Amino acid sequence: MSEHEHHNCSSGHPENLQLRPKRLGWDEYFMSVAHLISQRATCKRAHIGAVIVRDNNILATGYNGAPSGLPHCDDDNCLIYTSTHPDGTIEQNCMNTIHAEMNAIIQAAKHGVSIKDADIYVTASPCINCLKALINVGIKQIYYDKPYKIENISDMLHKTGVKLIQVHVENIRIINDEK
Ligand SMILES: [Zn+2]
Ligand SMILES: [Zn+2]
Repeated sequence: MSEHEHHNCSSGHPENLQLRPKRLGWDEYFMSVAHLISQRATCKRAHIGAVIVRDNNILATGYNGAPSGLPHCDDDNCLIYTSTHPDGTIEQNCMNTIHAEMNAIIQAAKHGVSIKDADIYVTASPCINCLKALINVGIKQIYYDKPYKIENISDMLHKTGVKLIQVHVENIRIINDEK
């Protein structure tokens, strides 16, 4: 039977096959998972998700939030501090939270999962502190969606073999986050 004679069970119209959504590529797949995970984030400042992957398998995940058992960020305990990069740019972070990338590394350590030579998908490019940890656990490639002060990490990236690659995912359906 030729392709033209092959009928879609649901419609019976072969031309409707064209309307089916394209199958996700691996990069879109893992970045979409990272976006989904970011919806678990608890810091009001930013919702970030991270997925550590090797050989197309998810090894660990993380989102940003307060340490386990401690109160989530709210107006009182979202502890914003400001730091100045050597080039003079100002960065703000929340002292109450652990970043998504760090939580993914922590999850791997907690469960004894090796993440050497793995890749990470993060919904935003990492800060310099997370980059340092990612370098030392042996992450090879960092895939990010939204750029976050990449100029602050570009020098360190160039001095290591770690690659930073943008994967932008369109049409992520954000489910209303319940507070
Ligand atoms: Zn916070
Ligand atoms: Zn970070």
